Amino acid sequence: MIIQLKSDANSQQIEAINQALADRSYKANPVSTQHRNYLVAIGKSEIDIRSIGVLEGIADIHRVSDQYKLVSKKWKLKDTVIDLGDGVNIGSGDFAVMAGPCSIEGEEQVESTVEHLASNGVRIMRGGVYKPRSSPYSFRGLGQEGLKMFHRLCSAKSIKIITEVMQVSQIKEMFDFVDIFQVGARNSQNFNLLDALGEVDKPVLLKRGISGTVDELLFAAEYIFSNGNEKIMLCERGIRSYEKAYRNTLDLNAIPILKERTHLPVIVDPSHGIGLRKYVEPMALAGIMAGADGIIVEVHEQPEKAFSDGQQTLNYKEAEILYRKMKDCFRLRESW
Ligand code: PEP
Ligand code: MN
Repeated sequence: MIIQLKSDANSQQIEAINQALADRSYKANPVSTQHRNYLVAIGKSEIDIRSIGVLEGIADIHRVSDQYKLVSKKWKLKDTVIDLGDGVNIGSGDFAVMAGPCSIEGEEQVESTVEHLASNGVRIMRGGVYKPRSSPYSFRGLGQEGLKMFHRLCSAKSIKIITEVMQVSQIKEMFDFVDIFQVGARNSQNFNLLDALGEVDKPVLLKRGISGTVDELLFAAEYIFSNGNEKIMLCERGIRSYEKAYRNTLDLNAIPILKERTHLPVIVDPSHGIGLRKYVEPMALAGIMAGADGIIVEVHEQPEKAFSDGQQTLNYKEAEILYRKMKDCFRLRESW
């Protein structure tokens, strides 16, 4: 059960609600977000929610049968829209494009990518400065200095930044230089990181774990929301299966299922999803048709020279074709 409290609900009223819930064997978890105050009540007994709903201090009350509550679609009338400022929104009925290299490599590379994105109307650039790598000997990113450079060059062209945060201690120093914090697949269930990102007022793109289920992804998002941050996007980036013909198995099934279960925007990542440049385009288009609200895709001027993930990265020409086709595809979907 989700109880939305009135903004002027006083402590006696809240106490009375808590008592009424306790009397019915429900545990009330107080949640305060950027937008409002809630009580998320967990309990097993069947109760008539009207008996709670009549109490003072309550703006709205909803029964949510899912085990995750705040991220469930069952209580929120409207889907979540992430507003990044300067007219850049995700989940608002426009298809969001986040594109850029796997890793931020240097000033020239960022300048060139910013130019490419700006001339194609792409408003959000991706690029890792802290890179989770399977081998400790691989390129692990330019770190905070790289992020500052990335931010300086992007803000000059009003391009927004999405980049991965790997640990709690990085959040504070990164905060002023990012527009979206990305939680990578390997950190999808790093509950300390999720808790900490719940406390910041900045959007989070949460990737599905390498072998994470849809429920686990939703529960991970619930960690962030229940700690106070409502600005969450979920990302399908492929899961590990027995199949070896491609890097990961992009689970397109997850997209309509997530759209049905949550009010949060759903983003598709075909680059990591299939891991093969040649097939990024069809999988991106399939992701749109499956219902995604946006895409995150790897693009580099010279993918063969990229410091990481070159094999799944589009060059500018390929990316331009994809941007065009995605527009058509999205228009077609919306016209149905
Ligand atoms: C990335 O976006 O470059 C990345 C490392 O993604 P994932 O966490 O999905 O592997
Ligand atoms: Mn990558």
